[in-house]
Amino acid sequence: MFFKTGEMNISNCDEAKREFLKKCFAFSAGLVFLPSRVSLPGTSDDIPDIYKKVALFQDETARGIMCRICPNECVLKEGEISKCNNRKVYKSKLYTMAFGNPCAVNIDPVEKKPLYHFLPGSRAFSIATAGCNLVCLNCQNWSISQTSPDKTRNYELQPEQAVDECIKSKCSSIAYTYSEPITFYEYTFETATLARKAGIKNIFKSNGYIYEEPLRKLCTVLDAANIDLKAFSESTYLKLSGGKLQPVLNGLKVFKEMGIWLEITNLVVPSWTDNLDEIKKMCGWLAANGFANTPLHFSRFYPLYKLDQLPPTPVDLLMKAAEIASGEGLKYIYVGNVPGNETADTKCPSCGKIVLKREGYRILFNNISDGKCPSCGKKVDGVWN
Ligand code: SF4
Repeated sequence: MFFKTGEMNISNCDEAKREFLKKCFAFSAGLVFLPSRVSLPGTSDDIPDIYKKVALFQDETARGIMCRICPNECVLKEGEISKCNNRKVYKSKLYTMAFGNPCAVNIDPVEKKPLYHFLPGSRAFSIATAGCNLVCLNCQNWSISQTSPDKTRNYELQPEQAVDECIKSKCSSIAYTYSEPITFYEYTFETATLARKAGIKNIFKSNGYIYEEPLRKLCTVLDAANIDLKAFSESTYLKLSGGKLQPVLNGLKVFKEMGIWLEITNLVVPSWTDNLDEIKKMCGWLAANGFANTPLHFSRFYPLYKLDQLPPTPVDLLMKAAEIASGEGLKYIYVGNVPGNETADTKCPSCGKIVLKREGYRILFNNISDGKCPSCGKKVDGVWN
């Protein structure tokens, strides 16, 4: 079975977004051979043993088995399924059902995560199983995030196979992405551990809704992360995503402290997260908490899933948000999902010269040398080679 590089997992996007994606992927080339999909039961509520693994971070309580990975704190009785749809209690132990059975396997440009300051122009071997711990109304991958591994068509790809396939396809990194890697934690951790031994980088694309202890453990094998900061108000987080803001903010600090290259994405959703005062507060918080050098990607919303009645985010609003971020002291600000936008380029934060030029996910030139601007010699933050 083969896939074109850069294949998307978006199953329900409108024409405008399809056009944008077409332009972005016009530059991807080549075919990659991947393992065959395996037939898993489509209707059963169970899953074969090889895709089950005793879950990490579980505790026995008087009410059932508690998972301590994320703030949802699921407490489950025998046979009950978790809020993230891929954990279950069997014989009084919590198991993940998302191990070695990804439903999405693709080769992506690293820029697609988006990571703009991490190995630009490299390719990421990207995997995801079914499941997510949030329920975002605007989810672009809802068909795999809001379901369980027994209901998706999956590949047989145990951690060592994922590393082998990554090497064969000449990718620099493995990206745990698309749905929510926090919920396929054990698969991510084991694969990332093997990948690191093989000299492959590990990228975490996540909602960041995770407790500190599991996050610190995971960070020991991660190299880069792009975290969605979905809103800057507790009530919006709850209504839009079913989660809380504070744990995500705490997590951002942990990534930073653990030395993981971090970039942040803020999807600007009309009438939900487009309040410029709130955006200002968010940027002010980022600047005040040591994230001034962390790239911030404002991403354009396209009507999707349960918010398909909304219009796409106006481009001028995104540009205003970028201006506000700059005014608050953030150094690297990008506007994403808008083809031909000049904010896709990386500028030197000291002299303002363009040091890296992009078109879609393609790098037109990269003049950064030794992590420095060629014009003024000042540092440009990132992991460049
Ligand atoms: S990771 Fe899944 S099982 Fe664990 S607390 Fe979060 S939603 Fe519940």
